Amino acid sequence: MTDHTPSLPLVEHFIQGHTVASHGARKQAVHHPASGHVSKEVVLGDAADVNAAVLAAQQAQVAWGEMPPIRRSRVMFRFLELLNAHKDELAHMITAEHGKVFTDAQGEVSRGIDIVEFACGIPQLLKGDFTDQVSTGIDNWSLRQPLGVVAGVTPFNFPVMVPMWMFPVALACGNAFILKPSPLDPSPSLLMARLLSEAGLPDGVFNVIQGDKDVVEALMQHPGVHALSFVGSTPIAHHLYQMGAQLGKRVQALGGAKNHMVVMPDADLDQAVDALIGSAYGSAGERCMAISVAVLVGDVGEKIMPQLIKRTQALKIKDGEQLDAEMGPIVSRAAKERISGYIALGVEEGAQLLVDGRTFDPSTAGEHCQDGFWLGGTLFDHVTPSMRIYQEEIFGPVLVCVHVPHLEAAIALINAHEFGNGVSCFTREGHVAREFSRRIQVGMVGINVPIPVPMAWIGFGGWKRSLFGDMHAYGEEGVRFYTKQKSIMQRWPQGTPLGAEFVMPTSK
Ligand code: NAD
Repeated sequence: MTDHTPSLPLVEHFIQGHTVASHGARKQAVHHPASGHVSKEVVLGDAADVNAAVLAAQQAQVAWGEMPPIRRSRVMFRFLELLNAHKDELAHMITAEHGKVFTDAQGEVSRGIDIVEFACGIPQLLKGDFTDQVSTGIDNWSLRQPLGVVAGVTPFNFPVMVPMWMFPVALACGNAFILKPSPLDPSPSLLMARLLSEAGLPDGVFNVIQGDKDVVEALMQHPGVHALSFVGSTPIAHHLYQMGAQLGKRVQALGGAKNHMVVMPDADLDQAVDALIGSAYGSAGERCMAISVAVLVGDVGEKIMPQLIKRTQALKIKDGEQLDAEMGPIVSRAAKERISGYIALGVEEGAQLLVDGRTFDPSTAGEHCQDGFWLGGTLFDHVTPSMRIYQEEIFGPVLVCVHVPHLEAAIALINAHEFGNGVSCFTREGHVAREFSRRIQVGMVGINVPIPVPMAWIGFGGWKRSLFGDMHAYGEEGVRFYTKQKSIMQRWPQGTPLGAEFVMPTSK
C-alpha cells in the first residue's frame, strides 16, 4: 500500500555510513498496529539501490577483511556497549511498529545482544587446524576466510533479533553485510546501522536497503553478493534456496513452522497450562517458535481444557506500551484478516471453537485502539491432522488442540508434519524425555521448556521444510556459513632438488 502524505517521517536506506534516498519513487506506509494509524513511510528500493550498496560494500570489505580479527572484535565490543545503552530505545521502536508488548521486545533485544557477545570471541572462533609434518618436511593447515559481500533478508516478527542472528557473525568474520529488513517494521535497522558506525565500523561495511521482493531478487541476482541468509515464510525460503543453487551462491533459508507441545499424563499440569498460554499467545503467536498445536495425551485434555479456556479468555490484551500487557495487536490489517480467515475455516472444517478471538473488543485495549489490528486469543479443540488449521502455519494467536492416546502416537503425528522447527514435551518421566528427544524429527527440542530457542553459541535451525540449507543460523555453524575453508600445504625444501614426481603424492 502506498501513502503519499508528505509530512510523514521517511525511513530510508543506509549506504556508506549515511541514510540515503531511494533511486525509485516507491514507498510503503508503516503502521502503528495498536492504533492502526500510519506513523511513517518506508522507501522501497530497486536494483539501482542494491547496486550502490554492493559497490560500497565491495570497496569497504577489502580492508575490513584484512583487519586482524581481534580488532574487528573490538568494534563488536563497542557495538555491544552501545546496544546495551540503547536497549530500551530499540524495544520501544519494535513495540511501535510490530506491536509486541514492550517487555517482550526487551527480551528480543537481549537475545540479539547474546549473538553480539558471541561474535566478540571471533579470534578464537576463526582459529584453524594445524598438522605438523604431514609428510617429511611438509605441514598442512586450514584457515577460514570471509566470503566478501553477504546479504540478509529478515521477517517482520523479530526486527532486531533476527538481523542480529546474522550480521554480528558475518561482520566479525570479515564480510561486508547488506540487510533487507521487513517493510512492516523497518526503523530498528537504521538505529542498529547508526550504532555500528558509532562503534567504529568503517563506512560501507554494513548497509541497509529497505524494500520488498524487488530488492531481494536484485540481491540474489547481483554477482557481487556471495551469500544470502533468509528468514521468513517457507515458499519464499524454498524459492530463494533453489535460486541460490542455480546461481552458485551459498544460501541458508529458514522458513515457517507449526510447533507442537506434547503434554504427557504424568506432567505437572499447572506448569503445562502456563507454558501453553505463554507460548501460544506471547507476541500474539507471531513467533516462529510459538506453540500452535497442543498434543494432549490420554486424559490430559479433560483435565486441562477448563483451565485453557479460562486462561485464554483472561489474557491481558493491551497496547504493548502498557507494562502489564500480555499480548499486543496483530502486526497488520492483512495479517489480522488472514488469521480471522483461518478461524472461520476451522469452524467450517468441524473443529470445536472454544474461544473466538474475533469477538475481542479493541476499546478494552486502550483509548486509541479502536482502529488497531486487534484479535483476542483463539482456542480450538478436537482438531484432526486432516484439517488445514492443523496443517498450515496460521502465525497468530490461535492454539489448536489434538488428542492422542499415547507417546508413540504423539511422535508419529509430529514426525509426519511438513514443518520441523521447534517442539516441546512436558513430562516428569526421564525415559519419556529421552525417547522423545532422540526420535522426534524436529531441529529444536524442549523438555519442560515450551520455546527452546538455542543460545548464541549453539545455533538455531529447524528441520524439514523449516530450513533449506546445511547450516543453522549463528553459533559455530554461522561462522562456517560466513567463511570458506582454505587448506594450505607448505614445504621449504633444502639441499638437492627432488625432481619431477609423477605419482599421486603420499606421505613419506
Ligand atoms: P515473509 O516470508 O513474508 O517475508 C520475509 C522477508 O522476505 C521480508 O523481508 C519480505 O519483505 C521478503 N519477501 C516477501 N515476499 C518476497 C518474495 N516474493 N520474494 C523475496 N522476498 C520476499 O515473512 P514474514 O511475514 O515477514 O514473517 C513471518 C514468517 O517468517 C513466518 O512464516 C515465520 O514462521 C517465519 N519465521 C521463521 C523463522 C525461523 O527461524 N524459521 C524466524 C522468524 C520468522
